[in-house]
Amino acid sequence: MKRIVLALLLAVPLSAQSLDERVSREINGLLETYKTLHTMPELSTQEVKTSAFLASHLRDHGYEVTERVGKYADPNATCYGVVAVMKNGAGPTLLVRTDMDALPVTESTGLEYASQNAGVMHACGHDVHMTTLLGSAKILADLKSQWKGTLILIGQPAEEVVKGAEGMLNDRLYERFGKPDFAIALHDWAALESGKMGYRAGEFMAATDSVNLTIRGLGGHGAAPQTTKDPVVLAAETILALQTIVSRERPPLKPAVVTVGKIEGGTKRNIIPDEVKLYLTVRTFDPAVRQQTLDSIQRIPRGLAIAAGVPDDRAPVYEHVDHESVAATYNDPALTSRVAAAMTRELGKERVVEVDPAMVSEDFGLFGLNRTIPTALLVVGAADPAKLAAGTQPGLHSSRFSPADPALTLKTGIRALVSGVLDVLKR
Ligand SMILES: [Zn+2]
Ligand SMILES: [Zn+2]
Repeated sequence: MKRIVLALLLAVPLSAQSLDERVSREINGLLETYKTLHTMPELSTQEVKTSAFLASHLRDHGYEVTERVGKYADPNATCYGVVAVMKNGAGPTLLVRTDMDALPVTESTGLEYASQNAGVMHACGHDVHMTTLLGSAKILADLKSQWKGTLILIGQPAEEVVKGAEGMLNDRLYERFGKPDFAIALHDWAALESGKMGYRAGEFMAATDSVNLTIRGLGGHGAAPQTTKDPVVLAAETILALQTIVSRERPPLKPAVVTVGKIEGGTKRNIIPDEVKLYLTVRTFDPAVRQQTLDSIQRIPRGLAIAAGVPDDRAPVYEHVDHESVAATYNDPALTSRVAAAMTRELGKERVVEVDPAMVSEDFGLFGLNRTIPTALLVVGAADPAKLAAGTQPGLHSSRFSPADPALTLKTGIRALVSGVLDVLKR
């Protein structure tokens, strides 16, 4: 009998067994934490309660915590960054980030723990990331004898408006708390089933650029168009012409997206307005394709305005919104494969898969200081397998999105993250 037990114990790696058990022991409390965070979403740059919640739990787990780390361009805005440090002897420094902000979305999941903040929702799963970080933080504090070095856990605000990472770095993050040798983060993924982890070496998420175009004309009476230069018609032509940038100008094997997501113009049906505003989001991976695409977005509206006879002093106005734009997210191949291997040992080969690059964007890559610090953004599956197969799985940012199986999603994320950290900081 004893021999059978011993054989069974040897069949399962001891470390895997204990980590799984540790997470299982914590999971009920973590589910409560997750549900609490889900009910109290806060918009980007307004994460006052969320950051305090995260900070107090990290303090409870024995970390040295500093709050309100970060500086935005607006000196009157408070940046709610949280930094939690645990020093554990000589060794590498590893930064692990969670984001904290939610979205201006009215939740329609019907969950009993749905948002209690009207019009705001954790529709991108940052509540999952925070809970995963908290669960991992506790286990890593308990397992101090198994790693060495310094762990810096970051609660980043304002990810959805790509301002938080930059804000924290602007506040001398690395001078104050130490410059990491590696940085990792985790994001939930609606294209991957709950219970799985995904990784992608190299270019993973696109660069994003926000562009505002003001199409100007000369307004007048709707019944006398010949006395005007109609910016509504010109805006319509512009929108269609912009669609030829990707289809006709960029190389087919280098992805790009040009989306006009919002149009604003006019007051009344019989008035031709003076101007129409277009709000664009542009996504690319390749830096050259990024610049060429932005150049085209300047050139095409100008040419169309000339063709329409709009005077030079009413030419379209192009505005690149710098603070809503960010470079592509690049996963360091060596760090990514190292962490993927650790996750695979913990979860098994069938539960750790390579995923496709995505046109969504992130500002986590900024923590890598132009690729001088290896960074890796991993993804944790959050989809319902049946809905995924049927094509009905709500995506991130949907009012109907929530992880299919929160307990499984959290357990998987924590086991993956802890095993990755233990590998990078191994004794
Ligand atoms: Zn998001
Ligand atoms: Zn997100």
